[in-house]
Amino acid sequence: MLKTHGCGTLRATHAGETVTLAGWVHRRRDHGQLIFIDLRDRDGIVQVVVRPDDHPDAYAVANGVRGEYVLRIVGDVIERSEATRNPNIATGDVEVVATSVEVLNAAKTPPFSVSEDDEVNELVRMQYRYIDLRRSSMIATLELRHRLNQFIRDFMTEQGFLEVETPILVAATPEGARDYVVPSRLTPGAFYALPQAPQQFKQLLMVAGVERYFQIARCFRDEDLRADRQPEFVQLDLEWSFCEEEDILGLLEDLFAGLAAALRPDLTVPRPFPRLSWHEAMERYGSDKPDLRYGLELSDCSDIAEMSGFGVFSSTIARGGRVRGIVMPGGASLSRREVDAFTSLAKTMGAPGLVSLQFSADPSEATADEIRSPVLRHLGIDDARRVGERCGASAGDLVLLAAGAPGMVSTVLDGIRRELARRLDLIDDSILNFGFITDFPLVEWDEESQRWDALHHPFTAPQSEDAHLLNSDPAQVRARAYDTICNGFELGSGSIRIHERELQMQIFELLGVDAEEAQQRFGHMLNAFEYGAPPHGGFAFGIDRVAMLLAGTENIREVIAFPKTMSASDPMTGAPMPITDEQLEELHLRVREAVVVVAE
Ligand code: ASP
Repeated sequence: MLKTHGCGTLRATHAGETVTLAGWVHRRRDHGQLIFIDLRDRDGIVQVVVRPDDHPDAYAVANGVRGEYVLRIVGDVIERSEATRNPNIATGDVEVVATSVEVLNAAKTPPFSVSEDDEVNELVRMQYRYIDLRRSSMIATLELRHRLNQFIRDFMTEQGFLEVETPILVAATPEGARDYVVPSRLTPGAFYALPQAPQQFKQLLMVAGVERYFQIARCFRDEDLRADRQPEFVQLDLEWSFCEEEDILGLLEDLFAGLAAALRPDLTVPRPFPRLSWHEAMERYGSDKPDLRYGLELSDCSDIAEMSGFGVFSSTIARGGRVRGIVMPGGASLSRREVDAFTSLAKTMGAPGLVSLQFSADPSEATADEIRSPVLRHLGIDDARRVGERCGASAGDLVLLAAGAPGMVSTVLDGIRRELARRLDLIDDSILNFGFITDFPLVEWDEESQRWDALHHPFTAPQSEDAHLLNSDPAQVRARAYDTICNGFELGSGSIRIHERELQMQIFELLGVDAEEAQQRFGHMLNAFEYGAPPHGGFAFGIDRVAMLLAGTENIREVIAFPKTMSASDPMTGAPMPITDEQLEELHLRVREAVVVVAE
């Protein structure tokens, strides 16, 4: 080794020792008669002093070094005097008096400073990720992810799960996203897909008798990116034979609570994790991933709206829509402009508008003067009171109502609820509020393609008590599917699977996959189900998302060593890139239009 100690590991107990250090120049200060070098490596920073009189050679070298030079330094650890101790760094009780300084490599002036937590343009950070990752906060994130993976591996191993790797070049598996594809050289015109998830392989491992499988699996989905979504991500993927919902949710609760306790002991994790059916979550919060750290529940006013003289409301109900509301405690004092800001927000989420009612008295006895609403004349005082009471408003509160198609109303009120929580400062960052959402619908109608789509994926089992509705009323069939949520995010999903060929065929048919196509695309699954497939179920959660929660960031790129931009490109390596004509030829491909050209 070129070093005997990590820079950040030196303490007063090392005083008197001669050490050899190697690392980067974090900072260099020239005090005329002395040069101070803060030397940094992964373990941290230590102060090195170089004195011209004692070691002129070392001093001469130190004189020429600049930020981010790579040095090897031999020196003696001494305890600092009381007055010169630095309580801000872990090595602040000591310094190293250099006897030799050697430059292992020089460095150009970096595009941004490693030493300060400056605001640096994210694209520049991504372009020079190898410098960005030198920052202590980034190293801390890498460590967090390492410990997260380590915890998962230990936990799953203890529970008897076997880590099995599955292929990356696969046949497409439907998880609801677009595939990344790879052209085949050996089979002209044929393509592999990159796995959206190892779903089919893990089920086949159950048929193979593995019984308990897990993998820290890389998945690829060509979707529009968001702050919390990357084109490639890592998930803990698991599958379990002879288990039921309770077993999986129990395992997940122990796993999530355990890893939170191990990695963020400072945060509170309420247990048992609350469970909500999908229906209940949608009714109470308008979302299948509600933030459960605060209340602000929604209320249904559709029956009041139906009988109302206010045409906008009654016609909404007549068209199959709903009218629902949310209360902002204390919101009666908001100005017209402040209330209008909520309407503008609602419009960005697809609502034509919001109806507001501000109650300066208790809704049950408020007079017309005590209810401020642009629609009071149309709604009438009685219905306005009823709405206030239904929503549980008190004197001084604001009620916001959304009217329209049920899905849109939920989306809008979910967004308003999250905004209200921020405004009212209801979000407690010291809590990780995990929860389970169960009993999802099996399928949903897709207007665009005019067919039923699996809400989870086509391998999810319907609840047996609803199975008789599969042909007559598929929308009412509940799936044996569940999600884990935390603080308003979805962390992952899973389900008990279909393990019988007949039922799987029936579901494919419902989803518009005819027998021939089913055999062609999923023949291996259907065949496997005929060779003794055990009942089984599983789950997968996004490790990047969990890392975000544990690191307390809302930007997924902060917890990924080498992330992609929102346009799925990598500014450091330049991917994606055109390939040469020879490569295209070999792959039997022709590019019809290109926005980039191959660099010569
Ligand atoms: N394959 C699913 C997903 O990636 C998870 C599962 O059902 O186990 O979301």
